[in-house]
Amino acid sequence: MILNNLKTALSGDPANIRIKEGSIDDISPLWHNAVSGHLNLTFNNAIVFPGIINSHDHLDFNLFPSLGDRTYSNYTEWGQYIHAHFKDKIDRVLKIPVDLREQWGVYKNLINGVTTVINHGKKIKKHCDPITVYEHCQCIHSVQFEKKWWLSLNNPLKKNVPVAIHTGEGVDKESGEEIDRLIKRNLLKRNIIGVHGVAMKEEQAQAFKALVWCPESNYFLLNKSAPVNQLKKHIPILFGTDSTLTGTWNLWEHIRRARATRQLTDSELFDSLTVNPAKTWGLNSGELAPGKDADLVVAREKTGARTVESFFGLDPQDILLVMHKGDIVLFDEELYPQLKSIELEHYSKIYEKSTCKYVAGNLPALMRTIEQYYRGVSFPII
Ligand SMILES: [Zn+2]
Repeated sequence: MILNNLKTALSGDPANIRIKEGSIDDISPLWHNAVSGHLNLTFNNAIVFPGIINSHDHLDFNLFPSLGDRTYSNYTEWGQYIHAHFKDKIDRVLKIPVDLREQWGVYKNLINGVTTVINHGKKIKKHCDPITVYEHCQCIHSVQFEKKWWLSLNNPLKKNVPVAIHTGEGVDKESGEEIDRLIKRNLLKRNIIGVHGVAMKEEQAQAFKALVWCPESNYFLLNKSAPVNQLKKHIPILFGTDSTLTGTWNLWEHIRRARATRQLTDSELFDSLTVNPAKTWGLNSGELAPGKDADLVVAREKTGARTVESFFGLDPQDILLVMHKGDIVLFDEELYPQLKSIELEHYSKIYEKSTCKYVAGNLPALMRTIEQYYRGVSFPII
């Protein structure tokens, strides 16, 4: 497959990409000649970037609305508060079978341009995903919410597996001390990827392999987020959305909020979505380079804007194509005239704002099934 006439985000350099057997075969400023019998797509005014790696989500929690109506000192206080004040809303969503909720979570990520999501929690029930759901790490919820967390952490059989754990998700003294407890109990010196780290200090950061920054979720809960401008000196920063319990479904609004803090430069923020997580989680993606998995996104360029502004100004409706390991898993109907040979029975149509997208699998059927369990559930697409 050939994708011609693109501009690379963030640099704006011309890019013409040849894909072969699920990988990027060649990327060059020079036009690739069409190959007969293969898909040859030519774009106009479009940017390309590696498929986004979302380093933190709870796939089964993305049918919840954001729950909470004030700021809290830490996640324990928030957890108790929402169970006391929003029990009905929680129960209504929990009636939906978990495998359906997880599948919706996968699609929430796909329509945002995510090609790999790190799911926090139990392994998901059903894997027939258009994107990668990464599960090769041990998830421990947190020091407060997981009983005997230190036994799980010091399980010798898992010694070489990375651990992902929420830590320091609060603004009070206890949240900082919780990080110390975690570090102290890491007797096997395991690779810990901390999530949130709002209370994390520079000297604590050094005990972690990486930090997943979830600014949207943190501001929603705590009106504060991790001091990544300092922590980035010590550990890689990865980007995470968390679920819709604590923020909007639109990843691009999370990214803009992160950018507005000016704690990371534009290229550092871009890296937190691409190369940093690829390295930390051991993925062969996150870069547009020969030999890498063909996980990439093509999106509409904003008229008259620099490529960098086109990237950070994106919304899901601007996405023209999502490719996962060489397979087209989402495309805008605008591309249909060039994709006539594609087998449409593997796709379904969805509408976002005024745009129409084709997505792999039957998303409308999934939404209708979910509605049978929860009438009035709200989806951001139709
Ligand atoms: Zn979380």
